[in-house]
Amino acid sequence: MKPKKRIALVAHDQRKEDLISWVKYNAEQLSEHELYATGTTGKIISEGCSLDVHRLKSGPLGGDQQLGAMIANGELDVLIFFWDPMTSQPHDVDVKALLRMSVLYNIPVACNRSTADFMISSSLFNEEYDPIIKDYSKYISRNVNS
Ligand code: PGA
Repeated sequence: MKPKKRIALVAHDQRKEDLISWVKYNAEQLSEHELYATGTTGKIISEGCSLDVHRLKSGPLGGDQQLGAMIANGELDVLIFFWDPMTSQPHDVDVKALLRMSVLYNIPVACNRSTADFMISSSLFNEEYDPIIKDYSKYISRNVNS
């Protein structure tokens, strides 16, 4: 990944205020990177923080899946995902899939503010970095090519 990171920002409804607060606090640094967000999260960030954000579909309408596909395609470098630990979500399977993709492709993921703070304070946040991708080929059947 290049010094300019492609960062996804997602928050469930009860965590949106927490994410907006974090984004506002770090707006100057985040403005140096390329921002993506699920629909409602992106709307709130672009209105409240004067940052350019590429908006995808709303999470329950496929936004999490779009982000997962971007990770699988090598189009996202960082995921900041403030998911709600107290409320069940209609798109819980999509949430799980997005988190799985982020682990599979070894991208940095922050699910709470402390982790996001540690991440954005890291010198690696603004440097070139190549995540090591584990070789999963032995998990895959010989009949599957990729
Ligand atoms: P939203 O989606 O930004 O459209 O609210 C977030 C989510 O539920 O994953």
